[in-house]
Amino acid sequence: MGSFFVLLLLNMSRYADIVLPVPLNQYFTYSVPPELELIIAPGKRVYVPFGKGRKLTGIVMKLHNIPPVGVQTKDIISVTDMDGTTLLPYQLELMEWISTYYLCAPGDVMKALLPGTLRPESKNEQKAYKPKTEPFVKLHHSISPESIDETISGLKRAKKQQEVLKKYLEISEFNAADGSFKAISKRYLQGKVESVSALQALIQNNILEEYDVETERLISYTGSIVEANTLTESQERAFAEIKESFKKHNISLLYGVTSSGKTEIYIRLIQEQIKMGRQVLYLLPEIALTTQIMHRLQQIFGNEMAIYHSNCSDIIRAEIWQKQLGNRPFSLILGTRSAIMLPFRNLGLVIVDEEHETSYKQEDPAPRYNARNVSIMMGIKCGAKILLGSATPSFESYANALWEKYGLVTLEERYTKVGLPDITIVDIAEMRRKKYMKGAFSPQLINAVNEAIERDEQVILFHNRRGYSSVVECDDCGWVQKCTHCDVSLTYHKNVNMAVCHYCGKRYPIVKNCPECGSNTLNQRGYGTERIAEHLQELVPEARIAIMDSDIQRSRYQEIIQNFQDGKTNVLIGTQMISKGFDFDNVSTVGILQADALMNFPDFRALEHTYQLISQVVGRAGRRNIRGKVILQTRQPDNQLIQMLSRHNYRAFFNEQMNDRLAFVYPPYSRLTILTLKGRSAKDVEQIAYRLCQLLSGLFGEERVLGPDAPMISRIQNQHIRNIVLKVDHKTSYLKSRQMIDCAIQQVKELLVQSGVTYYFDVDPL
Ligand code: ADP
Ligand code: ZN
Ligand code: ZN
Repeated sequence: MGSFFVLLLLNMSRYADIVLPVPLNQYFTYSVPPELELIIAPGKRVYVPFGKGRKLTGIVMKLHNIPPVGVQTKDIISVTDMDGTTLLPYQLELMEWISTYYLCAPGDVMKALLPGTLRPESKNEQKAYKPKTEPFVKLHHSISPESIDETISGLKRAKKQQEVLKKYLEISEFNAADGSFKAISKRYLQGKVESVSALQALIQNNILEEYDVETERLISYTGSIVEANTLTESQERAFAEIKESFKKHNISLLYGVTSSGKTEIYIRLIQEQIKMGRQVLYLLPEIALTTQIMHRLQQIFGNEMAIYHSNCSDIIRAEIWQKQLGNRPFSLILGTRSAIMLPFRNLGLVIVDEEHETSYKQEDPAPRYNARNVSIMMGIKCGAKILLGSATPSFESYANALWEKYGLVTLEERYTKVGLPDITIVDIAEMRRKKYMKGAFSPQLINAVNEAIERDEQVILFHNRRGYSSVVECDDCGWVQKCTHCDVSLTYHKNVNMAVCHYCGKRYPIVKNCPECGSNTLNQRGYGTERIAEHLQELVPEARIAIMDSDIQRSRYQEIIQNFQDGKTNVLIGTQMISKGFDFDNVSTVGILQADALMNFPDFRALEHTYQLISQVVGRAGRRNIRGKVILQTRQPDNQLIQMLSRHNYRAFFNEQMNDRLAFVYPPYSRLTILTLKGRSAKDVEQIAYRLCQLLSGLFGEERVLGPDAPMISRIQNQHIRNIVLKVDHKTSYLKSRQMIDCAIQQVKELLVQSGVTYYFDVDPL
C-alpha cells in the first residue's frame, strides 16, 4: 500500500505550464491541486486565477514536477475539459513553434487561432461552447424487453402513466438486432400524449430514462452531387507526377498556368485521400471572393466538407472544431488561414491554393504568421503531404522547388488549349504627350472595351487605387491635403463626398479653399476606381459597370460576382481583389490601367508582387474558347518586368530578379525579420532604435542589419515609427536567432519601459 502510494505520487505532476490569453512572452506555471491530478492533461483547458481578482481560461502546455524559482505558484481552479482535450499534442507543438518562430506571445497565438467560444477570457463572459443537444427518452436501462409486459401491468393503478408508456412503445420500434427500443425525442413524445406530467413521472420512477442527444447544427449541403471531370491528358500526367514527387518530397509545388485546371487535379487528389480514409485541408487566400471554387468542391464532396474561415460565426467554428475532435470528423476542410489550427486526427494532404498570395500572411495584429509556412510545419507534424499550387509561385517556393527541397510539377497548357492572352503594351507617357489620352484611358484601351462590348463579351479593368482621386492638391501653391494623424495624403471618395485616410480610416470634410494660400483652385489629382468608372461610362455609354474593391461591403461581393456571371453587368473594375481566381467564361478583354505605381513601390518584393498580380489579372481573360486580349498601360514600356510579362516568361523574370536577391542577400537567400518600434516621441523612438541597431549588429554582423529607417509612412495615428531590418543567414537556426534578438531587447528593456516605446516583430514580411 505504502509503496503504491509513493509510486502514485511520483507519477503525479504537481505543476502545469499554461498559455493564457495575454500578450506576454511566456507560459505561466500553476500548481495542480491533488483533486485535479487525475483529470488534468496537456491540451486541456483550465481555469486559473490571474492578477488581482481576475480569472482566465488557458491551455495546459506541459505538466512537470519542477517548482518555479522564487515565485509562489497559485492553484488551478478547475479543469474545463472533462474528457478529451481541446488541442491535440501536435497542435501544442505547432502553437509553440508559431510563437517561437514568429517572435510573438503564445497567448496571442492562442487568441488568434482558437474560436472565441473555446477561449472564454473569464467565467463571467463565458459563452463556453456547448454542443446543441435535445432531450430524448428511452426505456430505462434496468428494464429488459422481456419484462415489459410486467412493467405495464405494474402500472394498472396509474392509468395515465400506463398510456404514455404504451404510446412510447408504439412509436419506438423494437430493434430485434440489439433487442432494444429506440430512443425518441422527448418533445415529439410530449406532443403525442395527453399528460406531460405522467411522462415526467415515468422518468422519475425509472421506467423511462431521459438523456441529451447532440444534434447536428452545422449547415448541411442540400444541392446535387456531381462526378468529378475526367482529366485531360496533361492534367492526368501532372496528377501522376505529383504522386510520384510525394515519394521523394513532403512538399511539392504545382506550377500550372492560369486556367490549366489545377482545381480539377486537387479534386482527384482529395478523392484519393478520402478513399484511403484520410483527411485533407484545402487552404484558400480568401473565401468571399472564391465562392466559385467553394461551390465546385461542394458539388463533389457535399457534406464530407466543411468551410472554415474567420467570418464564420464563433458557434459554427467551435462546432467544426469539436466535430474534428470527434469520431466522425469532416474529410475535407476548405478554409482560409485560420484553419491551420483546426485539429486533424488523420491528415493526409494539405493543399495551399494560390500559394503566392499575400493574404496568407497576417499583417496585424500578432501573430504575424504566414499560413502557407505554418501549414507546411503542420503537415509535416501530422505526417501529411503538402501541395502548393500557383500560376505565379512565390520566389521562396519556386526557389525551393528548383533547389530540390520541394518537388516540382509543371502544367503549361490551358485546359481548353487556347493560348495565354495576347498582351499589348501601351506607353501612356507617349500617349499623353500626343494628347491621345482621355483621362486614364488610352485609345487602344477604349477601342478594346468597345469591341468586346459590341461582341457581347465582358471586360475586367484592373486599377489598384480605390476611391475617386488620389490627392487633393492646390494648383497655386502645391498644398496637399493630408491626414492630421498620419503622414499620408488623403483620397477623395466621391460617393460619400469625404476625403479619407487609407491608413487610419479617418474621414475629413472637403475643403473649398486652400488653407495655405486661400486659392480656390483645388484639384483632384490621380485616379481611383470610382473616377475610372465614372469616366468610362462617359466614354463607353453601353458599358454596364460594377466596381469591386474594399470599399464594397463583403455581403455584396456575391451579388456583384453573380451579376457579372449572369451578364447583367459587362465591365468589372477592381483592385487586386479581382486577381483572386475568378473564372468567368465570357471575359475576353482585360485592361491594366497603370502598372507603374505597383512597380515603383519601394520594397525589394515590389516587382515580384507586381508580376504576380498583373499576371493573375491577365489570366482572367480568354478562359474559354477565344484567346484573351490584354491592354497593359505603363510609363515604362521597356522595363524588363513589362517585357517578360507580355511574353508570359515567368521563369526569365524569376532568374533575373534572383540575381538581385543574391547580390543584396534578400530572401530567398536570407530570412527577413523586421523590428518595428513605435512611440509618441520621435526622439525616444529614434534613440532606442539606434541602440538596438548597434546591439543587433554586434550579434548578427553589421552587414545583416539595416536601419533604423523611417518607413514610407513614418507616422500613423500619432505614433512615430522606425524599422530595423534583419537579414538572417539560413545557417542560423530560428531558435538561435530568437535568442540573440531576445538578448538585444533585454538590454534596452529599461529604456522601453521608461519611454513607453513599444515594439513588435514581423518575421518573413511580405
Ligand atoms: P486554374 O485553377 O488552373 O486556373 P481551374 O481549375 O479553375 O484552373 O480550371 C479552369 C476552368 O476549366 C474551370 O472552369 C474548370 O471547370 C475547367 N476545366 C479544367 N479542367 C477540366 C476538365 N478536365 N474537364 C472539364 N472542365 C475542366
Ligand atoms: Zn494653395
Ligand atoms: Zn490617418
